[in-house]
Amino acid sequence: MTKQNSGHCSVQDGVPNSSPHREAGEELLDKQQLQERMSLIGRKILVMSGKGGVGKSTVAVNLAVTLAMHGHRVGLLDVDIHGPSVPKLLGLGRETIHTSDGAVLPVEYTVDGHNIHVMSIGFLLENPDNAVIWRGPVKMGAIKQFLKDVSWGALDYLIIDSPPGTGDEPLSVCQLINGLDGAVIVTTPQELALVDVRKSVTFCRQLRLPVLGVIENMSGLLCPHCGERIDVFSSGGGEKMAGDMGVPFLGRIPIDPEIVKSGDEERPYMYYYPKTVTAQRFDKIVDRIAGNESSVASGVKNKNTV
Ligand code: ADP
Repeated sequence: MTKQNSGHCSVQDGVPNSSPHREAGEELLDKQQLQERMSLIGRKILVMSGKGGVGKSTVAVNLAVTLAMHGHRVGLLDVDIHGPSVPKLLGLGRETIHTSDGAVLPVEYTVDGHNIHVMSIGFLLENPDNAVIWRGPVKMGAIKQFLKDVSWGALDYLIIDSPPGTGDEPLSVCQLINGLDGAVIVTTPQELALVDVRKSVTFCRQLRLPVLGVIENMSGLLCPHCGERIDVFSSGGGEKMAGDMGVPFLGRIPIDPEIVKSGDEERPYMYYYPKTVTAQRFDKIVDRIAGNESSVASGVKNKNTV
């Protein structure tokens, strides 16, 4: 550390250990390091949901995998501190974290010859059944380290899977990343889920975070016998909510037993089942998020919809 002229303070190395000056200096340095890391990443996208179990992590993982399959350089950060699903969904449950030159190395997941850089609190747990019992500021500290200390390198996309709701984790991401592109909000179509997803939209508005769009997941089940659609959780609610709230609608994903299977087998659906109707629908949604195709919504446009 460079010596500073600190007036009447008695100092050995510029400023004493816990002085406000030192803390402010460290904070500034942290901020610069964080900004430098993030400046190498093209688009940073937060995946949110109002409720748990609506398929948010499944969407985040398959979004990252699809973008990588399209040749993009992708990072996937799991900030679901209390319930990290990303390692399991990619079969990376046994991975641990390594460091090099003071930076944390992301775990690599290779798809179609492209490496996805993955980071999750799950890699730090000795046993996946262990519970992480942390309060807000500690969680924010961990998320900051994930963003700042992981050697993400130059990426086209960083997909961030946050826990359900509008708590500390999505708030930390919004506060820490200057230039977050926006949020993709995942919901199921029934009213009970939509009540909470409206809060996610309001959260984004309050934080001036663009809503890239809403995905209606588990939208109808195609009967494998007669082909008729059964609306298990109703249908169209996500699209209507998006229209009512004036945010883009990205599309519907049906209930597909193979999504459950691929999740349980720890293999990403979009890579292992790329030819299905569900995969084609998801591919279109990814195109809309990437800005290659307009959103379905009610004429709502933002910088990522054409
Ligand atoms: P969340 O992150 O919202 O808690 P997950 O992504 O963990 O939800 O998904 C919860 C469960 O629902 C998983 O078993 C997953 O395989 C399943 N699932 C997600 N989307 C679908 C879908 N479209 N059809 C069938 N099952 C799905």
